[in-house]
Amino acid sequence: MERTLSLVSAQIGFRTLTLALEAVRWNPEGPALILVAPEAANEVRGGIATVLGAVQAVMRGATWLTPAFTSRTMVYPRVGPPDNGVVYLAMQGANARATFFHPDLPADPEWEPFWEVARRLPGARRSEHPVLSFLAVGPQAEAAASAQSILDPWGPIRWLHAEGGDVILVGADHTMNVAIHYVEAMAGRKTFVRWALMDRRVVELPGFPGCRRGFEAAGPLLEPATRRVHLGEWAVQGLPMERMVQLLLELLGRDPMALLCGDPLCLLCHAVRQHVLYGSRSA
Ligand SMILES: [Zn+2]
Repeated sequence: MERTLSLVSAQIGFRTLTLALEAVRWNPEGPALILVAPEAANEVRGGIATVLGAVQAVMRGATWLTPAFTSRTMVYPRVGPPDNGVVYLAMQGANARATFFHPDLPADPEWEPFWEVARRLPGARRSEHPVLSFLAVGPQAEAAASAQSILDPWGPIRWLHAEGGDVILVGADHTMNVAIHYVEAMAGRKTFVRWALMDRRVVELPGFPGCRRGFEAAGPLLEPATRRVHLGEWAVQGLPMERMVQLLLELLGRDPMALLCGDPLCLLCHAVRQHVLYGSRSA
């Protein structure tokens, strides 16, 4: 039985994927954030290059973004702000492995397969946040990428929102939906301070997001704003930014602890909970 299913899923080809991507778009002319599960390389005939070809075919004439995040640039001081979701001394080992951000620095494994093929497209532009950079492709790539700054890591997502864009999940679930971090910031959820190596120095990064592991809990709430095509055990989903933002802002207004993960050892979600309960002790 499993073998049959895997044969079916191995038959996802360019045409099928293109039709699925077209079917889940809400704004057929507008921009999109494309989030591709790393497993797509195995599920689609022709691998990740086919995924890119289908995205390019469907997004022709429109601008699209995809994350190119690079956590290997991050460094930690021995002492830092309290309530910051980190045990500083425990992170000192990471400093030795850290590397400076540069435009060709490979993205984290979660984003690397799609980023690696997409970045070779003519006109592809990578924004310059040392940890939370995006790759932008299309006629407005420059506007989308330059909307980001160190102080405003979610600028490209704000740009997408203002342009009436969509979020498209290709085999991915909402734990990869980084646009939810933008809504968290809008809702005033606690953010963090991090540090990264860039331009021969250590750069402080305010407004750093927390944990995404609990984001899949948004799925049922977002169902009315979700178009989905099943491809074997796999799905392609599309959501309009505007409706997604509305629904999630209502959720976070009702329940400021929504979408946090269930891992009792998660320092980030713990810090957010403490902040909701007690406010900022350092303020
Ligand atoms: Zn967490």
